[in-house]
Amino acid sequence: MCGIVGAIAARDIVPVLIEGLKRLEYRGYDSAGIAVIRGHTLQRVRSTGRVAELERIAQTTDVTGLIGIAHTRWATHGAPSEKNAHPHVSGGVSVVHNGIIENHEEMRDKLRSLGYRFVSDTDTEVIAHLVNWHLKACGDLFEAVRRSLAELVGAYAIAVINEADDQRLVVARMGAPLLLGLGNGQNFAASDASALVQVTQRIVYLEEGDCAESQPHRR
Ligand code: GLU
Repeated sequence: MCGIVGAIAARDIVPVLIEGLKRLEYRGYDSAGIAVIRGHTLQRVRSTGRVAELERIAQTTDVTGLIGIAHTRWATHGAPSEKNAHPHVSGGVSVVHNGIIENHEEMRDKLRSLGYRFVSDTDTEVIAHLVNWHLKACGDLFEAVRRSLAELVGAYAIAVINEADDQRLVVARMGAPLLLGLGNGQNFAASDASALVQVTQRIVYLEEGDCAESQPHRR
């Protein structure tokens, strides 16, 4: 299990995501990636190189956004490769995941029968498709994540964003660490508080089974 960083703000959050991943590098990883939303367009960069290489690609391809998720992977299902690197995407839904989904084969079969096509060998891709499926039915990202997690067995920390809504970051955990970092007009998530020291000291640790939604402003 490696690292997750998420951020939602009224400014470009790519530097926060990259800095967070750099602070989690000590855990080791085989690949890394980020997904951010700008306007209503999801941009994703993944690499089997170091986080510095990911940063270089993000800069040269002008990847910026007000909301995003980032990941360092330690492969459990599927080889360390770019196609298996997180974030995984289904339609406008993008997911990063630490942990293992034990019933991923059964869920793969179910999702295939619903018309989903898998492009990676990971257990994580089932989460992306399942959230997409539930989102189509209920129209609410938080509810779609909750419905999806009710069908999954295993250990996870996840962060999820949806291209159609750059005001909501949804996270959840069971058997893997995840916390929220609170800022003024900006909020963060990470698997370890050390990933967020550069942006906030105000940390809320999620409990087992928690699912949380974060927005840039208090409502
Ligand atoms: N099981 C997932 C994968 O193999 C997540 C691995 C991790 O925790 O980094 O992609």
